[in-house]
Amino acid sequence: MNITVLGSQGAIPKLGKYSSSLLLNISNSYILIDCCEGVQFQLRKNKIKLSKIDIILISHAHGDHYFGLIGLISTLSLIKRKNKLKVFCPTSVLKIIQAHIKFSKMSLNYELDLISLNSQNEKNIYENPSFTIKTFPLKHSVYTNGFRIEEKRKRRKLLLDKALQYKIDNVYFNKLTKSENVFNSEGKEISYLEVTNEGPKPKSFAYCSDTAYFKELVNYITDVDLLYCETTFLEKDRDKALRTFHSTTIDAAKLAKKGRVKQLLIGHFSSRYDDYSMFFNEVFSIFENVIISEEGKKVQV
Ligand SMILES: [Zn+2]
Ligand SMILES: [Zn+2]
Repeated sequence: MNITVLGSQGAIPKLGKYSSSLLLNISNSYILIDCCEGVQFQLRKNKIKLSKIDIILISHAHGDHYFGLIGLISTLSLIKRKNKLKVFCPTSVLKIIQAHIKFSKMSLNYELDLISLNSQNEKNIYENPSFTIKTFPLKHSVYTNGFRIEEKRKRRKLLLDKALQYKIDNVYFNKLTKSENVFNSEGKEISYLEVTNEGPKPKSFAYCSDTAYFKELVNYITDVDLLYCETTFLEKDRDKALRTFHSTTIDAAKLAKKGRVKQLLIGHFSSRYDDYSMFFNEVFSIFENVIISEEGKKVQV
C-alpha cells in the first residue's frame, strides 16, 4: 500500500501547490481520495495513467475537495475509458455532478456509478477480495466523511522445504496457503500450521479531512498504519480553527497519539503560511512519526 500526495493545501491553491487530493495504491487498485482543481495535471505529472483509477472518494461538498471531479469524469470519457468508475460522494456532490452531466449534455462512454454517502455513523461502503472501505462522520461546517481503508488478511506463506519434507504434492500448496489441511503422498493429514507461516500483516489507512477535533474521532482511526489528518492551522490560530471547524497541529498530533497510529501525514495547510517547518515542529513535540504533505511525495505504508 502506498500514497502519493497530489495536493497539500487547504481551500486556496498556490503556484505549484494544489488543494487536497491523495492517490492510494492498494492491491493493484488506484483510489483517488478527494479530487482537487487541477488533479488531472497532478496525476499526469506523477506519471499515473488516468484510466487506472478505479474508485474516487469525495469527503465533502467544499470545492477544494471536488472541483477537479467534473473535469476528470469528462476527460476519462474523451480518452475512451471502458471500465466502470465508482464515485462515492455526499448526496450534494452527486446532485452537482448529475446536473452538470444533464445541462452540458455530456455523454459518457463508460459506466459512471455515483454512490451517495449520507450515513451519520461508521459504515462499510465497499469490499472486494483484497480490501474494505469504511466511512465515518467528521465534524465540519457541512456534511463530511472520513475514510478507513484496510487490506484483508493475506494468504499464509508456504515453507517449501518443510512441505517437501512432509511429502506433500505441490498441487496442494495453494490449499495450504489458504489455511486448509491436506493429505500427503502417504495418506496422512498434514496441518497447514506445520508447513506455513502467517502471511504479511494487513495494512490500514485513515483519512480525516476536513474536521474539528472531537473525542469519538479516535475510535475510527485507532491502530491504523498511516493516518492522514488535516492541520489547516498552527496552534496559535486555534480561534480560527474553532470558527471554521478545522484542526490544528496539536489536534492532529493528539489524535495520532491517542489512536496509537504508526505514522501521521499532515496537510490541507492554510494559504496564510509559507513555512511548514512550524507544522512539523508543533506536531513532533507530541507525536514524532510525522510527515509533511508535499506535492508528489510518496509514502509507503
Ligand atoms: Zn478543505
Ligand atoms: Zn471543508
